[in-house]
Amino acid sequence: MKEPKKILLIHTGGTIGMEGSEHLEPGHYAEALVEQLPEYAGFAHIDSVVLCNLDSSDIGPRQWRELALTIARNRAQYDGFIVIHGTDTMPYTAAALSFALEGLDRPVVLTGAQRPMGALRNDARRNLADAIEVSTLPIPEVSLCFDGVLLRGCRSCKINTRAYHAFDSPGCEPLARLGVDITLARHIRYPSAPFRCCPEFGANVIVVHVTPGIMPGTLNRLLTGDPAIDGIVLIPFGVGTVPCVDSDIVSFVETATSRGIDVLVANAATGKIDLPLYENSNVLSKAGAISGGEIRQEAALVKLMHACATYRDRDERIEYLRYHIAGEMG
Ligand code: ASP
Repeated sequence: MKEPKKILLIHTGGTIGMEGSEHLEPGHYAEALVEQLPEYAGFAHIDSVVLCNLDSSDIGPRQWRELALTIARNRAQYDGFIVIHGTDTMPYTAAALSFALEGLDRPVVLTGAQRPMGALRNDARRNLADAIEVSTLPIPEVSLCFDGVLLRGCRSCKINTRAYHAFDSPGCEPLARLGVDITLARHIRYPSAPFRCCPEFGANVIVVHVTPGIMPGTLNRLLTGDPAIDGIVLIPFGVGTVPCVDSDIVSFVETATSRGIDVLVANAATGKIDLPLYENSNVLSKAGAISGGEIRQEAALVKLMHACATYRDRDERIEYLRYHIAGEMG
């Protein structure tokens, strides 16, 4: 008989464990969660650790760092990892772990629920059971397991606040579908470099959504604030167009890049940023902005935060931002 796989379940909080009161006993809770699925006792050897017990709106760079370090420290002892997490910011944490855990060689599966484990007709049981199963499979990526699909973490986004089908990864087919059988996709990524943990994330990065009538005067004030910002994720229209007649966003981008502030262009819709396609998008390339390809806003923000904290040298940082790290650019 095969040895059961060893899985480390890292608890961070979220609806899955809420019991009508947010003041749960974390230690007790982590054990209780797996106890809800006694049928999995022989399937895998699951250890639990409580990193924090937070609504995921309170999870950010500090917890991403701790999570990455916990996984890196325990990597050799476990075959896979499950991260229990609130749904609101799960795609950000998934992206953070995708960038922090370079050369990942085993599954890191994030999951949570829209209804708590203690509630009737909940989705918590199924999501946790699915996460346990996929954490034992050869899927060495950071992924998000929810409502029967396993998504690439750095391509995922929350699409519904009130439905069990709460996540999608537009433009990126699921890594696995969990129906009667579990079907794995062909585009699962395998490590091409040795494992390395780079867990730092800078906080001085902002997202600017280009909107009709947007005035660069307002935006320029962002460039003179204290502390100074290190990076801007710019969300333009379509493939990357910005208003050029009545509103000169381009001068804002030029000023930013000339001061050493990186501007990464990401997509609000499904599809690819294609700056050369229009005159009104090519202006962004000329102003020094970097195309994020198919990168989603969540991953773009986290990648830029990671780049700013990890690569002090500007050329290195720009190369990192242009490069596909974990499948985030399509
Ligand atoms: N507010 C909760 C959280 O993100 C929502 C959830 O878990 O579904 O922690």
